[in-house]
Amino acid sequence: MNASTATASAPSSAAPSSAAPSSAALGSGARPVVRLQPQRHKRVRLGHPWAFSNEIEMTAAAKTLPPGGVVTLVDAVGAPLGVATFNPHTLIAARIYDRDPVREIDRAFVAERLERARALRDRLYPEGCYRLVHAEADGLPGLVVDRYGAVVVLQLNSAGSDRLREAIIAAVHDVLAPAAIVLRNDSTARTLEGLGQEVAVVHGAIDDAIAVVENGVTFFCDPLGGQKTGWFFDQRENRALCARLAAGRRVLDLYSYLGGFGLTAAAAGAAEVVCVDRSEPALALAARAAARNGLADRVGFVRAEAFADTERRAAAGERFDLVIADPPAFVKSKKDLAAGAKGYRKLARRAASLVAPGGSLFIASCSHHMVPAMLTAEVARALSDARRTGRILYAGGAAPDHPVHPMLPESAYLKFLLLALD
Ligand code: SAH
Repeated sequence: MNASTATASAPSSAAPSSAAPSSAALGSGARPVVRLQPQRHKRVRLGHPWAFSNEIEMTAAAKTLPPGGVVTLVDAVGAPLGVATFNPHTLIAARIYDRDPVREIDRAFVAERLERARALRDRLYPEGCYRLVHAEADGLPGLVVDRYGAVVVLQLNSAGSDRLREAIIAAVHDVLAPAAIVLRNDSTARTLEGLGQEVAVVHGAIDDAIAVVENGVTFFCDPLGGQKTGWFFDQRENRALCARLAAGRRVLDLYSYLGGFGLTAAAAGAAEVVCVDRSEPALALAARAAARNGLADRVGFVRAEAFADTERRAAAGERFDLVIADPPAFVKSKKDLAAGAKGYRKLARRAASLVAPGGSLFIASCSHHMVPAMLTAEVARALSDARRTGRILYAGGAAPDHPVHPMLPESAYLKFLLLALD
C-alpha cells in the first residue's frame, strides 16, 4: 500500500475547508487529509505519535477512508502535523510516521528506518539476534520485526502496517537480505484493528527450529508455532543478571519456555537447574538447547502447571538458591487487574517460600496494566505472607532493543524485581 492507493479512494470532501492546505501544498498528489478537532493538536504537536478517534473531525468522508491508508494529518486550522496512517474504526485512529507531511511512506522510507534501527542493534548485539523494530519507538508504528540471524519474523499489528506490507517486506530484503521471512500475524492487536489472523512463510523456508544466540548460549525456537515471534528477546539482560547469581547454586526456572533463564544460569555454572513449563514442545526445544550447549547433565525439565508444581515442592520442603518466575501476562485487560494482581502476589508468595535463606527471587510481569509500583506492592505483601524478609536488589524492564517512545511511557510493559531474601 502506498499513498497513491489511498488517494484513489479519498473523497475530496475529506479535506478540510478554507483553512486547509491544498493538496498541491502538501505534495504527494492528492493524499487524503484528516483534520483534528479544535484544540486537539497539542499532544501531537509535542511529539506524541497518535491521535485518538475522539480527537478527529470524523466527517462522513473520513469515516469511509480505507483502514490503514496513508493520510496527511492537519490541525483544526489546516496546519500540517505530519504523515500518518489512519484507521477510522479504532481508538488509535492516526499513527504518525513522519512530521514532514509530504514524506512518501514507501519501501525507501521503511528501509531508512530499518537501517537506523539496525545500526543501533548491531552495536548492542553483534550476534545478529534481536528485536530490530519495536513499533512506534523505532518510527514504524504497529510494526514488530524480530531478527534471528538469517530469519526475520514480522508482526503487522496495525491496519497501517498491514497495508504497507509489501513495502515492508521489500525493505526487509533490501536491508537484511534474509534467507527466510515469516509473518506472525496472529496477535490480539490485529483483532482490535479489524485485521485477520495469518501465520505464513513469505520468503524462503523454515524446515526446523531456528537457532538464537544470546549471552553466548544457543537456544532453539519455532517462529511459526512458538509464543509471539518465537523467542522473548526482552529478557536478555535480565537472564544475564540472574546468571551472575547462579554459579554453584540450585536454580528453579518457573515458566521456563525455551529455557532462557535456566540455561543461561547453567552456562554460568549453576550446580543444578530445574525448568518448569506446561508446554511440551517448549520443553523439548529447551532440552535440545541444553544438549547443544553441553548442559544436559545439570538441567532437568518438568512439564507441570506452575502453581501446582510450586505447591508440591513447598510441601516436600524443597529449596532453591535462585527462583525465577517469569509468567505469561496475568492481566490481559483492565478489568482483570484486581484478579491479576492477586495472581502475582500468590506467585511471589509461592516462589519466595521455595527460596533458601540467603537466596534470590526474580519475578517479572509483562502485563502493561500492572504498573511498577503495583508489582512492588504485591511482592512486598507476598513476602510478608510467606513470612520472609528481603531487599530489592534491582528493578528493571526490557532490554534496549525494546525502546520506549518517550511520549508512550505506558508501552514499557515489562517489569521485574530481583530480591535477596534472608
Ligand atoms: N521465561 C521465559 C518466557 C516465559 S513465557 C523466557 O525467558 O523466555 C510464558 C511461559 O509460561 C510459556 O512457555 C507457557 O507455556 C508457560 N505457561 C503458561 N501458563 C502456565 C502455567 N499455568 N504453568 C506452567 N507454565 C505455564
